[in-house]
Amino acid sequence: MEKKYGYMTTDGSVYRVLLENAKENRKYATTAEAMLWEMLRRNNLGERFRRQHPIGNYIPDFVCLKKRLIIEVDGGYHHLRCQAIDDRERDNNLRKLGYTILRFSNEEVLHQIKHVIQIIKDNMERNNVNNSSQLNPCGTPLLWRGGGRLLIFSAPSGSGKSTIIGWLMKEHPELNLAFSISCTSRAPRGTEQNGVEYFFVTPDEFRERIARDEFLEYEEVYENRFYGTLKEQVERQREKGQNVMFDVDVKGGVNIKRHYADEALSIFIQPPSVEELRRRLVNRATDAPEVIEQRVNKAAYELTFAPQFDHVVVNDDLQKACQEVYRLVCDFVNHP
Ligand code: ADP
Ligand code: 5GP
Repeated sequence: MEKKYGYMTTDGSVYRVLLENAKENRKYATTAEAMLWEMLRRNNLGERFRRQHPIGNYIPDFVCLKKRLIIEVDGGYHHLRCQAIDDRERDNNLRKLGYTILRFSNEEVLHQIKHVIQIIKDNMERNNVNNSSQLNPCGTPLLWRGGGRLLIFSAPSGSGKSTIIGWLMKEHPELNLAFSISCTSRAPRGTEQNGVEYFFVTPDEFRERIARDEFLEYEEVYENRFYGTLKEQVERQREKGQNVMFDVDVKGGVNIKRHYADEALSIFIQPPSVEELRRRLVNRATDAPEVIEQRVNKAAYELTFAPQFDHVVVNDDLQKACQEVYRLVCDFVNHP
């Protein structure tokens, strides 16, 4: 362990090995682990836990980052004495990082699952993030070291979100940013390519994906034009430790923020005026006049969502707006 980023962490190479191991471990769950995972999902706890997720130098079986709760299910080797000592050491180290550890034996999971789930639920209610961060004077778990966080950008269309996001990604590769590629039922415009700006699908395909519960959130932003954030896409990017940027409509932005709470930063990009918005959309020359009208007409309503965001950045002078966004993102990514 070294104190390199203002808090205890392992160096990057150890972290990569941990991630690789975690991926491998996930493929070979024991029967008890698989059962617990299934039951967590059935009890609507699945989304709150990650499986085999590196924390410090360890890879616990299940982790809830927000509640700082770890669940370990004993494998057969755990009855060996040396392993028991390792477990104690491991628990102590994880406790120092502010985590609560719940241990269950295979038998408990397989034969008393209701009881096990109840204990987990009780702990999810009892654990408090604010308290646990006080318990954690030297910082945060590894994945929060500039990786795996969420940056939400919303605004009326034409405010300059895409321009600012593009600038940030180009000028600041050190922020380890990845763009969340949404799915949409609108047609590609200009030079847009499938799998780059969006995954383009037909309205029927979009509805099928809704039915298969593939979206973290989705909105019919304009009539018959759906846009949605794919769960799998976001998780894959986060697992790589990337900070994921979302360009979503105002409702989507509020929903993603609600879902991820402190793990997400939400920024509302505000145009100087609705008239300027119209001018920009006309100059952008990517939409038909009636589509521009549709977008402008919705703007006044969308502007009322601004107070629900963590920050509002007025995009009048583009350079200034970019710098302001950069400062906000830097602060958030570097100071968990
Ligand atoms: P959004 O992604 O919010 O729909 P864009 O980033 O596509 O908006 O910006 C809309 C248009 O406005 C683009 O042509 C862009 O070049 C232009 N633009 C962005 N910011 C400014 C600004 N501060 N001043 C003038 N034009 C701008
Ligand atoms: P555009 O057609 O200009 O690319 O996008 C129209 C609107 O849809 C923009 O406000 C954009 O932010 C929003 N949008 C894009 N992807 C998503 C998404 O996955 N979810 C939601 N809710 N809105 C999205």
